[in-house]
Amino acid sequence: MTDARRDEIAGNLAAVRARIGAACAAAGRDPAGVTLIAVTKTYPASDVEHLAALGVTDVGENRDQEAAPKAAAVTAPVRWHYIGQLQRNKARSVAGYAHAVHSVDSVRLAEALGTAAARLRDTPIEVLVQVSLDGREHRGGAFGADVDRVADAVAARPELTLRGVMAVAPQDWEPAAAFARLAEIAARMRAAHPGAELVSAGMSGDLEAAIAHGATHVRVGGALLGMRAPLR
Ligand SMILES: *Cc1c(COP(=O)(O)O)cnc(C)c1O
Repeated sequence: MTDARRDEIAGNLAAVRARIGAACAAAGRDPAGVTLIAVTKTYPASDVEHLAALGVTDVGENRDQEAAPKAAAVTAPVRWHYIGQLQRNKARSVAGYAHAVHSVDSVRLAEALGTAAARLRDTPIEVLVQVSLDGREHRGGAFGADVDRVADAVAARPELTLRGVMAVAPQDWEPAAAFARLAEIAARMRAAHPGAELVSAGMSGDLEAAIAHGATHVRVGGALLGMRAPLR
């Protein structure tokens, strides 16, 4: 845990917080309504400890293979957000450490996660339904009426708490158009499920557009932790 690394992260964090603050000011929003999730994939557990010491206690990971040992190694009290594509055979592992899963995109995955949580946990897992904005399969996400089916399946399981929606802006879309579309989908879900008030949207490159369109959670990796060579 070198101080130089903590200083580097602290500088990056100040810049990201300033961006979030400016985007909130531009949108007339209270920055307290935007939670920063530090995406620590490819970075070591010691970086999570640095982030926690700097006050960032929500961290995101996208591969169980990497996240499970990291979650076991970190002693600071952080909340783990699972944000990557999730295979049903990993549901049990993820249910062991995740506070929230942002990437539930099928009824079958919701069922698998609910079954795992019922066996392993006393508290429900918070679930966001991952939405595909363009209907292309490769990045995951439910599309169209499937979003409602997945939301209903999550809401029906007592071991899961439906909290909202997550999306990644398609590469060939304007971020503002993508997040405006996500805001419509979020409003529709909230009308059916009043507790589903979270919108997980925006990354290092497009967090301003996400905040302008109502993101409650931004998921930031590179802008916080830098572009240095990944460890693995
Ligand atoms: C990696 C990742 C992020 C963070 O992306 P950056 O561009 O590094 O900020 C956010 N969301 C998901 C789903 C990711 O996989």
